[in-house]
Amino acid sequence: MTNRKTGLPMPLFLLSLPKTEDNKNIYYISELCNMKIKVERLNKKTGPAQCFRCQGFFHSSRFCTRNPKCVKCGKPYLTRDCKKTAAEESTCCLCQGNHPANFLGCPKNPLNKLPPPPKVNAWEERIKKRKEMQEAAKWKAEQATDQQVHPSSTPAELNPTPALSSTSAKKPSSQPLNTKRPRHGPIGKPRLYPGRLPRPASA
Ligand SMILES: [Zn+2]
Ligand SMILES: [Zn+2]
Ligand SMILES: [Zn+2]
Repeated sequence: MTNRKTGLPMPLFLLSLPKTEDNKNIYYISELCNMKIKVERLNKKTGPAQCFRCQGFFHSSRFCTRNPKCVKCGKPYLTRDCKKTAAEESTCCLCQGNHPANFLGCPKNPLNKLPPPPKVNAWEERIKKRKEMQEAAKWKAEQATDQQVHPSSTPAELNPTPALSSTSAKKPSSQPLNTKRPRHGPIGKPRLYPGRLPRPASA
């Protein structure tokens, strides 16, 4: 691995191995070619890409043409030109907080931003509202018809029901019904009536 600033090689080597049980043993190796070594996991910096030049997010410093900003003090120059000492507090150029601009806990970091509210399609909303209105109107109309039907239908229903029940009871003949009664009980008979009743009532 090479140093990002100087471009010089570092005493670090990056290995990538498939994740197998056997390969986990690499962490137990402490010596290699008479040299003391330490195997560590690669510390991946999570979070969105951040520009080294302007500290902005989602782009690389390689093609950045924005004004430079120091990652440590937030002043308008490249970080390499910074003369801030370790004792001085760093200033974030994004939120003016006392942390470097690449601090993942920075409130301006997209990681810490709340997800945007769900997008609302005006047309879909309009259609939804229209449907709701239509349904409400339907329901109202149904209620109105129910109220109209009830007082008028009660006497009308009473008249055909006895006539129909008597005719329907006569037509299929009362003899087979009598034979069925002991098997199915009284449940079979009342089921027949509500099925046949509404048809003539509506017609
Ligand atoms: Zn940039
Ligand atoms: Zn600085
Ligand atoms: Zn900040």
